[in-house]
Amino acid sequence: MQLAIRVIFTLAEIAGIEVGRDYKPTSYLYSYYKKRDNEGVFLKGLKLKDKVKIVKVTVDGEYSEIIARVPSENSTKEYRVKIILPLDFECTCPYQQHHFNPCKHVYATMLKILELNGAPIEDWRLQQLVYEGLNKYAYIKAKDLQALT
Ligand SMILES: [Zn+2]
Repeated sequence: MQLAIRVIFTLAEIAGIEVGRDYKPTSYLYSYYKKRDNEGVFLKGLKLKDKVKIVKVTVDGEYSEIIARVPSENSTKEYRVKIILPLDFECTCPYQQHHFNPCKHVYATMLKILELNGAPIEDWRLQQLVYEGLNKYAYIKAKDLQALT
């Protein structure tokens, strides 16, 4: 199956999972339309998207691994992002070392993968799906780790 479609199906499946009442993602739509939160992580990712360099794509049946390099906004550093389908993500930036939620580099890479594979990433519904799918995945992963300890 085409990579963009697999990404969309994966995100849609995860976005649709019912989780506990304590799941409260920050409002992507609010920050997008009201422009109140211009420094929102997702919007930063959207702006960074054109600077993402995809360095390796491995597709093995239902498993895919995408490696990218994304420049830091505030320094000359470059971070390494790894996105796995169906789903996981990592970034070497300081934010990602301390948060479960996706950083701007992960959003930027996910949007770049979709764009390169012909998906209409300017469509707010797809942006919402990227936001919701990645955040809900992060929430579920954090909960699972909590349950183990
Ligand atoms: Zn990052």
